[in-house]
Amino acid sequence: MKSAARQPAFVECDSVEVHFGALPVIQGVSFSVSRGEVVAIIGPSGSGKTTLIRCLNHLLAPSAGTVRIAGETLGVRVGANGRLIKLPARKVAAQRRSIGFVFQRFNLFPHLTTLQNVMEAPVHVLGRPKTDARAVAEKHLARVGLADKADAYPRQLSGGQQQRVAIARALAMDPELILFDEPTSALDPEMVGEVLAVMRDLAAQGMTMLIVSHEMGFVREVADRVIMLDAGRIVEQGPPAEVFDRPKNPRTQAFLSKIL
Ligand code: ADP
Repeated sequence: MKSAARQPAFVECDSVEVHFGALPVIQGVSFSVSRGEVVAIIGPSGSGKTTLIRCLNHLLAPSAGTVRIAGETLGVRVGANGRLIKLPARKVAAQRRSIGFVFQRFNLFPHLTTLQNVMEAPVHVLGRPKTDARAVAEKHLARVGLADKADAYPRQLSGGQQQRVAIARALAMDPELILFDEPTSALDPEMVGEVLAVMRDLAAQGMTMLIVSHEMGFVREVADRVIMLDAGRIVEQGPPAEVFDRPKNPRTQAFLSKIL
C-alpha cells in the first residue's frame, strides 16, 4: 500500500497471549492491520513470530485475547453473558478459507502436478467445477510466472518455483489476507529474488499481507509498517525507515546491529 491513508482495521489482535504449558511465548500482543497494508514482523529467533502468525489462521488458538479479521472474531463468538463460545467446525473452516498461508516449506502435494496443486482446494474445499478451477489456476500460475510449468511435478521444480506455486495456490482461494512465514528462508540465495518479486507485485496490487521475514532490504522497500517482537512482546513498531534507521528500543538496536 505504501500510503499514509488510514483505513479501518482489517486484522485486530487484542491482548493475545500464547502459553505452551507454563512457558509464555506471546504476551499481551495487540496490533492491527488495515486492508491493503503490508506489515512485516521481525525479531530474533524464538521471539514468537511464527507462533503469532499461526494465531491468525486457526493453526493455534490464543491462550487469551482475541483475533478479529474483517470484524469477525476467529474461532469464537461472544455469548449473551460475555463468555466466549467456540464456533462450530464449519464456521471455523469458512473463516480460514479467506486467509492464505505461505509457509517456509512449500508443502505441495508431490503426486499432483503444479496445476493440480493449485486447483486442489478450489475443487475440494470450495466445490468449484473443475473447468472453472482450472481457468483460475492457470491465471494464477501465469501471475507468478509459471504458466509453462502447469504439468510439471513439484520434484521437477526449483525451490523458488515451488514457492511460487505455493503462492499461486494461496491466491486461487481468493484470500483477503495472505500470511507469509519466512517464505524465502528455505531457498538457495539465487532463488530468493524471484519469490520476493512475486510478493512485491502482490503488495503493489493491494493485497493485505503479514510477512515474517529476515529479508530486511525487501521489508524496507515493501512494508508499510514493521513490528519488532522480542521475547513474545511487541517492543517497537513503525514505518521501516524509522525502525531501521532510528530504532528507539535497545532490543531493536541490538537485533538490527546483528543482521543489517
Ligand atoms: P520465532 O518464529 O520468532 O523463531 P517461534 O514462534 O517459533 O519463534 O517460537 C517461540 C518460542 O515458542 C520458542 O521458545 C519455541 O521454542 C517455543 N515454541 C514454539 N512452538 C512450541 C510448541 N508447539 N510447544 C512448545 N514450545 C513451543
